[in-house]
Amino acid sequence: KPIVIITIGMAGAGKSTFVNRISSHLGSQNKPPYVLNLDPAVAATAFESNIDIRDTVNYHEVMKQYNLGPNGGILTALNLFTTKFDQVLDLVEKRADTVDYVILDTPGQIEIFTWSASGAIITDAMASSFPAVVAYVIDTPRTMAPATFMSNMLYACSILYKTKLPFILVFNKTDVQPHGFAVEWMQDFEAFQTALASHRDTNDEDGEPTYMNSLMNSMSLVLDEFYKNLKAVGVSSVTGDGIMEFFEAVDASREEYERDYLPELERAR
Ligand code: GDP
Repeated sequence: KPIVIITIGMAGAGKSTFVNRISSHLGSQNKPPYVLNLDPAVAATAFESNIDIRDTVNYHEVMKQYNLGPNGGILTALNLFTTKFDQVLDLVEKRADTVDYVILDTPGQIEIFTWSASGAIITDAMASSFPAVVAYVIDTPRTMAPATFMSNMLYACSILYKTKLPFILVFNKTDVQPHGFAVEWMQDFEAFQTALASHRDTNDEDGEPTYMNSLMNSMSLVLDEFYKNLKAVGVSSVTGDGIMEFFEAVDASREEYERDYLPELERAR
């Protein structure tokens, strides 16, 4: 059975570039993936997708017809597409013997997928038919301020506990900024607290810690448990650095899916 890689990330994190990179990496290994584009608003995808939401719903038409703004248009397009998702699953099932990886690209506005009924239906439908893993793409250079890092991790945390799937933090753009600082902060909360103590965002003009500082301090203790439950890799979607490590993490996630997710799923049935 193929494993489904559900890619999620804040707009601008480099999700499209990343999907493009892992697709062409697999292509060059003679293991072309099956790619599903779920972003109705993407102008042009560089990668070839096998199933594209844009072939089924025209998001501009949806906006006009239902008198919606861009976000409402994207959400409604995703809802309309989801009503036909059983057909999508059938198509993927038909290819299950010939592909090793299925890649799901989600809408650029992260919350449209992570906090909608459709997003949950699609995720659950996929994860109950195939092993699945979430790849959460992070803009590494833009997550160096401790408070930004913390909010990004809290967002990841909420997605982990919502999907309950194996989870890979993909620190992207390591060609611009290596992700060592992030690994250090995740492994050693005292290092994170030291960074908090010296960052201008979390201290006032006199260098005194602000309320935000003490909040983040406490949060770092809470997140310690969360960090233990996930894998982190650094990649550059531009140079291809770290892509091998990413796929090692994906392969390890398959075991994790079978050990942790599948028994829960069977209990629920
Ligand atoms: P998306 O909105 O998450 O789909 O992000 P895009 O894939 O459109 O990328 C956003 C911007 O980040 C683009 O200008 C990309 O060229 C750039 N980008 C993406 N990945 C990398 C990377 O690994 N390194 C660098 N330096 N830039 C990147």
